[in-house]
Amino acid sequence: MPDIYGKGLLKGLGVTFREMTKTIFPDGMTKRPSPTKGAATVQYPHEKEAPAPRARGVIALKEDNCTVCMLCARSCPDWCIYIEGHEEKAPPRRPGGKPRTVSALDRFDIDYALCMYCGICVEVCPFDALFWSPEYEYSEPRIADLLHDKTRLGEWMETVPDFEPYEAGSEVKVRKVPR
Ligand code: SF4
Ligand code: SF4
Repeated sequence: MPDIYGKGLLKGLGVTFREMTKTIFPDGMTKRPSPTKGAATVQYPHEKEAPAPRARGVIALKEDNCTVCMLCARSCPDWCIYIEGHEEKAPPRRPGGKPRTVSALDRFDIDYALCMYCGICVEVCPFDALFWSPEYEYSEPRIADLLHDKTRLGEWMETVPDFEPYEAGSEVKVRKVPR
């Protein structure tokens, strides 16, 4: 075996040994305080780490804001958004005006078995209907059950965090999450 591989192997084993001793002796083998003591992992699901506030966990839908424009479904590179709607009459905006035709949403499913979390759908939605939620506990025993419907996507709206203020000097208005 060339020497370069031997060095790499020893280096890798050293990292493994260091992590192992940190896990077995969280307070350190010596009395010296260590900023990185303890295991690097947690015992999920008994222990849970809080994800970063704007983590891309899952996509939530604000159904009232969706106009069934289909832009997100057409932009999705994985074709994993399924939308169906119908048109219906709505009362005029002002007294004496003409009745309006509006689109109503019948189906809005995302297949998370196909989604690659690129965020294009969230970016292109012109009506503030899609948002990232840091929620991540939606695994399913059957891959077919990863197709989630508008009811489930709507429930995730509660877990969407508010937008944080932008950096000092920014003149862009901070977006608001519709509640
Ligand atoms: S782009 Fe937005 S408004 Fe249009 S269908 Fe998708 S979620 Fe609804
Ligand atoms: S995050 Fe990307 S892949 Fe997933 S549904 Fe949106 S556009 Fe499609």
